[in-house]
Order: sequence, then structure tokens, then C-alpha cells
Amino acid sequence: MKRQREASEDTAAKLREHMVRTQIAGRDVRSPAVLKAMGHVPRHRFLPNDSLENAYGDHARPIGNGQTCSQPYIVAHMSDWADIGTEDRVLEIGTGSGYQAAIAAEIAHEVFTIELNATLARAAQNRLQKLGYTNIRFFTGDGYQGLAQFAPYDVILITAGAPELPEPLLEQLADNGRLVGPIGEEAQQLMKVRRTGARFETEHGIYVRFVPFVSNGFGSA
Ligand code: SAH
Repeated sequence: MKRQREASEDTAAKLREHMVRTQIAGRDVRSPAVLKAMGHVPRHRFLPNDSLENAYGDHARPIGNGQTCSQPYIVAHMSDWADIGTEDRVLEIGTGSGYQAAIAAEIAHEVFTIELNATLARAAQNRLQKLGYTNIRFFTGDGYQGLAQFAPYDVILITAGAPELPEPLLEQLADNGRLVGPIGEEAQQLMKVRRTGARFETEHGIYVRFVPFVSNGFGSA
């Protein structure tokens, strides 16, 4: 049993190395910190019902409750584009499996993550604690309002498709802070908003497909 487990961890490590080489570095991700995190985090532990091949494949994977763990490249690209730094405090909306939170926690000082679905939130918290992460704080609820009590954040990652940028999240960006997230209904475009003082500058990125950001906050202003 033990030998079998070691053999499968060996296989996972090989598949992970291949994933980084072909899907991440092999595309356009250059940040050493992101490449190191992607090579380190055991993605298969976030996808316990998948084969190792599927866990390290070039796709998003189902995690139950109609939700998904994002494609490895998208996680790497968003972390790279948001330019997560070692001293940064990161807020993530949409914990899901916890995979993006783990990647961010490998790089940043501290990660705050909010998940709407209580079952997923509990599973992610258990998983990340078992994996030994001590710099991630977990919250259950609607992330539309962010977490004002711990603001400001150097980086905010939205990992669910939002019809528009939630105002409260922009307000919780630190000076020089970056928010990255998918905006749009069915197909979404990644957007980056950088705050400089009172100025907010928006950049448009690649098209992506995330599960929807579900909140009464949209359109209720
Ligand atoms: N970051 C995740 C992928 C997230 S999928 C990972 O790495 O696995 C999107 C997640 O956003 C889903 O789990 C969904 O339940 C959650 N979500 C949707 N609307 C939300 C909201 N208003 N607040 C917080 N989480 C939300």
C-alpha cells in the first residue's frame, strides 16, 4: 500500500513537471515564482476523484456541486498577470477546490479566500490545512462585498465569471494593487484593474470560461 502510494506520488511529480514544461512555461508564463508554485502544488490532491492524467491535463476539471477547478494554465496566467509578490496580501473570490489559493499562498505573504458554497468551502479548508498551508484564511459567503475588515489587498483574484466588476472589490485594492478576473456572461474576458491612488486603469486580456459569479450584488445598486 505504502509502495503503491509512493509510486503514484512519483507519477504525479512526473506529470506535474510535464504540465509545467508544456502547458505553462511552454506557453508564455515566465515568472519564476509562478513556475515554482505550479511545479510544487500537488494538483491531484485537489481532484481526488480524477485520474492523475486528468488532474494534470490541460483543462478545467469538475469538483462537484456544478463547480470546477480552473485549467492549470489559467491559474498560472492569472497569478502571473496579477504579479503576485512575496510580501503581498491576496484576496480570492471563489475558493472552489482551493487550488488557486494554494498557488497564491506559495508565492504571497497571506491569502484570504471566500467561497459561496459551504460544502466546497469546508472541503477546501480541510484539504489546504492537511497540505500544511498556514497562510490562508477561509471565509464562507458571497464574495461580492469582499472582506473590508482585512482590506486593503495588493492582489484580488476573481475566479468566477462576473457580469461586471464588483465596486466594493475595487475599493479594497491597495495603492498599486491589481485586480484580475473574468468579466462577461457566457464567454468572459480577463480584465486587470490597477489602482494608482484614486485612479483605476483597466487592461483587457484573454477570453476564458469560468462558472458564474452568483450574487445579488449585481444590478442591485
Ligand atoms: N479558484 C477555484 C475555482 C473556482 S470555480 C479553484 O482554484 O479551484 C468558481 C467558484 O466560485 C465556485 O466554487 C463557486 O461556488 C464560487 N462562487 C460563485 N459565486 C460566488 C460568490 N458570490 N462568492 C464567493 N464564491 C462564489
